[in-house]
Amino acid sequence: MMMKMKLRKKERIRTAPQYLFISFSLDRKKETLLVAGKSRKVSEYVYYTIINITATERVIQVSIQYEDNQITVFQSALLQTTSTVAVTKDIILIVDPTWLPAEIEAIQQHVKEKDNGQRQYVLFTHSDFDHILGWNAFPEAVTIASRGFVAKSDKKETIQEIQDFDDYYYIQRPYIIDYPDIDIIIDYDEQTIECNNTSIMFYLAPGHQPDGVFAVIQETNTLIAGDYLSDVEFPFIHHNSEAYERTIDKLENVISEKNIHLLIPGHGHSTNDVKEMQDRIGDSRWYIQALRDEIRQGVTYDVLQVFVDSFLFARYLGEEHEHNKQQIQAEEKR
Ligand SMILES: [Zn+2]
Repeated sequence: MMMKMKLRKKERIRTAPQYLFISFSLDRKKETLLVAGKSRKVSEYVYYTIINITATERVIQVSIQYEDNQITVFQSALLQTTSTVAVTKDIILIVDPTWLPAEIEAIQQHVKEKDNGQRQYVLFTHSDFDHILGWNAFPEAVTIASRGFVAKSDKKETIQEIQDFDDYYYIQRPYIIDYPDIDIIIDYDEQTIECNNTSIMFYLAPGHQPDGVFAVIQETNTLIAGDYLSDVEFPFIHHNSEAYERTIDKLENVISEKNIHLLIPGHGHSTNDVKEMQDRIGDSRWYIQALRDEIRQGVTYDVLQVFVDSFLFARYLGEEHEHNKQQIQAEEKR
């Protein structure tokens, strides 16, 4: 028996939520959960999406970071990676569906629930393995990515990274893992998909990776930024720092020209506060410029280290900071 039900709570989650995958039964009338025989009130701050009530009454708790009438932002337990589903009368757009099987299953169920025969799309914001691993869970969707994503030379390595991850954690998935076949290739800025009253506009976004894309859903003034303008990460420059800065400029222009009300980064929290969007732009720009100055002048700015240490996951981010230094050093030698 397939059944779905949502115990809806209004608050969006601002702090890191708890993730539990547990079996228990549900008292639908009282909105309480029976866990280990004890009745617990459903938390005010967490959505429980009940995926599949079978004989064992399996309940999957997934985190929904943001939700309005059209946009749902799922947040994975891993790296706070976001997977966005945008629904209009004309389309369902699924962005970077990831990470864990139950998390992807929750996205599938959400899409099924919203499906009124709209055309389905899956957008890949870039080719990092965590952003592509779930695509075969949506076999009906038309796929979208950049020309660079299609032309990427080390696709096998990317697939190997997914296989290594799954093997390491004994993860089994009910769909195939392979590199996405792309139906719609993004070649230039403002390339647009139109479907009746919905239009999605795409922009090339190199810098983090060479094959990045960000998207604007015009109807809802939403910007899906990929791995830019995060609140939990400073810029990870895996491609080129100047390209990164140009992408930041592009994002800044789009935010004002398209009157963006909701910014969704690839990791961390979405925001509908324009001041916050501007702050993230300023931080990214400052970080890259300070790092470049440090390298050019052969000095150490304590303030840069303080900035890196101010992030919640500074220990891991420290490695990315070192990587960024090496990247800019290599650029300066050219
Ligand atoms: Zn990422």
